[in-house]
Amino acid sequence: MKLTLLGTGCPSVDHKRYGPSNLVTSKKAKILIDCGSGVTQRLNKLKISSANIDALLFTHLHSDHAVDFYQLIISSWHSYRIKPWKIYGPKGTKKFVKKIMDSWSDERKLRISYEARSSVKAFDIEVTEFKSLGKIKIKDINIRYFEVDHKPVKYAYGFYFTNNNKKLTISGDTRPCENLMKFAQKSDVLLHEVFIEGEIKKTNKMRTKKTLHNVQSYHTTSSEVGKVAFITQSKKLVLTHFVPTRFNKTKLKKIVKKDFGKDPIIGEDLLTIKI
Ligand SMILES: [Zn+2]
Ligand SMILES: [Zn+2]
Repeated sequence: MKLTLLGTGCPSVDHKRYGPSNLVTSKKAKILIDCGSGVTQRLNKLKISSANIDALLFTHLHSDHAVDFYQLIISSWHSYRIKPWKIYGPKGTKKFVKKIMDSWSDERKLRISYEARSSVKAFDIEVTEFKSLGKIKIKDINIRYFEVDHKPVKYAYGFYFTNNNKKLTISGDTRPCENLMKFAQKSDVLLHEVFIEGEIKKTNKMRTKKTLHNVQSYHTTSSEVGKVAFITQSKKLVLTHFVPTRFNKTKLKKIVKKDFGKDPIIGEDLLTIKI
């Protein structure tokens, strides 16, 4: 199995860190997790066609994780997708997909008839909404999904993927929570979000004290993420979803290593990790 970080950023714009998105691949399967801003450009850079993605999984429906959804669908149509899209996500995903597709329906109809491409399968979208806990199998990859704690977001999920006796866990957006500690146990790779509290500049008008407090409190801070990785006995910890996107990497590694006992890997866009 391979994990490729497509976007390691957050809602703030940074041309070096695109919106949150990850790709999990095996010999047979290609699974996309989230579709943040720039996801199709990153796939293109990897020479992977969106026509060949087997499934898209949403961790949650915050816009930074879902904003390029329509771009993904359209690019897959342009790339001659000849199979329906399989989409999995939290409660609300059916409504979200329908609304996005509806908002472009006039433009799409016109395009479909004018461009006369040979397949419209890309617009055939099957959505499955998650229960609180469950399993999915995509070709040779087994997936377990579980709820994480990103409240006030009501439905947010983490995943673990297994293939060839290897385990990859993706935290999604979450504060430290019991479910993640439980389901991420003994991961070969734990991909975890991080909020780097020491790097946030307190500019007066852009962010209030309340903004900082609230944003920090539904994420996992740099002084917590190493503890999470240690408790889960994960072999490797890869950090992503950096808030803020620019920070001192040496300092972050040092803070996390104190708790984890090992250096974490600082995620970068297009970094690929073999699992
Ligand atoms: Zn996010
Ligand atoms: Zn979020």
